[in-house]
Amino acid sequence: MTISYPEKSIPTVAIVGRTNVGKSTLFNRIVGKNKALTSGTRGTTRTSNIDTFIWRGRTFRIIDTGGIDFAKDVPLEMEIKKQIEIALTQAQAIIFLVDSKDGLLPQEKEWAHKLRQSKLPVFFVGNKADNPARRHQLQGPEWLKLGLGEPLAVSAVSGSGVGDLLDVVIKKLKGAKSATIEAKKKAIRVSIIGRPNVGKSTLFNSLIGEERVIISPVAHTTRESHDTLILKDDEPFLFVDTAGIRRRAHVEAGLEKMGVNQTVNTIMASDVVLLVLDIEEPFNAQDKNLINLIGKKHKGLIIILNKWDLVAEAEASEEDLRNQFLEQVGGYFPFLRYTPIIFVSAKTHLRVHKIFELIKTVAANREKIIDEDELRKFLLYLTKKHLPTRGKGTRYPKIYSLRQIAAMPPTFEVTIKQKTSLQESYLKYIVNELHKNYDFSGTPVIVYAKKIKV
Ligand code: GDP
Repeated sequence: MTISYPEKSIPTVAIVGRTNVGKSTLFNRIVGKNKALTSGTRGTTRTSNIDTFIWRGRTFRIIDTGGIDFAKDVPLEMEIKKQIEIALTQAQAIIFLVDSKDGLLPQEKEWAHKLRQSKLPVFFVGNKADNPARRHQLQGPEWLKLGLGEPLAVSAVSGSGVGDLLDVVIKKLKGAKSATIEAKKKAIRVSIIGRPNVGKSTLFNSLIGEERVIISPVAHTTRESHDTLILKDDEPFLFVDTAGIRRRAHVEAGLEKMGVNQTVNTIMASDVVLLVLDIEEPFNAQDKNLINLIGKKHKGLIIILNKWDLVAEAEASEEDLRNQFLEQVGGYFPFLRYTPIIFVSAKTHLRVHKIFELIKTVAANREKIIDEDELRKFLLYLTKKHLPTRGKGTRYPKIYSLRQIAAMPPTFEVTIKQKTSLQESYLKYIVNELHKNYDFSGTPVIVYAKKIKV
């Protein structure tokens, strides 16, 4: 359950700066691969914005904070804040990149101000210093006013000055202590599944668009390279297997169909599964299979009915729709009564922000442990309300105890007298009562009987 963050022992430097100063070109130059996409296509999602590089025999990591695909309408101040936040939580040094060609822009004062407040060492670097005139420009007094010293001249395209930059950066990094505060927190592993065209990509984009920080962990294994780590109010969420849904909906709509095996793997890798359904399309056999699978694997579940914007408010209330949905499918899956069902519009972002809260609740419920005293009282209440009926044995079953023996999912053992048995319906009754009395919403609860000699 503990996620593999990029290992904290590798010293990390983050590149920040406004658009078009050449962050990804510098990133590419340093990692030596054509990894970040430098294409100007709007909305191009880079698959990796973190990579490691070796310099003077040691391994370092670099993050291109501009390689993170923010929502298009994120205001500039937010983007500055996000980039710096990524740097502060993930790196031990910051490269602040400016453009010698364009000169100092007013917004760079804002950047400099924020950076001076950070506790991390900042390397002030002037890019596109491809010729002496540009290098000279970087010596102008306006740069000094930023309070970060004179920018170091580099040309990310030709590579000139980049080696010198790395020398000073790694000298600083060698002795650096990790400023990372998130390292010890475990991330909740979340997956988004559903039939093609229900809006998974749109939803994912909407979720990350609202987020303050998003990082794709370093690709050490195939799995991780497909995952996306999001920090929401300092809480880490690891979205697993997002490669197929990370792309923009309009480009890839319907193209990425997950095979059954991949779906099983994705579900297995999750703590909480977001099953996306299209409010306009009836719930079909494929959806049933998916729910069945999630239930069988004992994973947390949240049902997301998407495209709410297509339902005129007057037509039906959320409550009506919820009941309709339960009528349709509750019969197949009684546990859906205890599954969070949320109506959202990935397109307009309506209620999308609530999903994070639900994920946290469901993840907490999966880990919930009810203490023994409480369960003793609960057992008294259960048997008082409903005495178990006679099972296959000739005698009335006698229940000795009810104990929780595991979490994730919560699993309970009822001990009964040898040679008696509990009917299946009584076990279901206990499951139901557990759901009613404690909040286990979104998580399966397992109850089984064990016969003991006393
Ligand atoms: P995926 O195949 O599940 O990833 O689905 P996409 O995210 O590619 O979406 C499929 C289509 O549904 C696209 O045309 C989206 O624009 C559209 N769509 C997604 N979410 C919504 C929504 O909340 N409302 C409406 N009206 N359309 C949506």
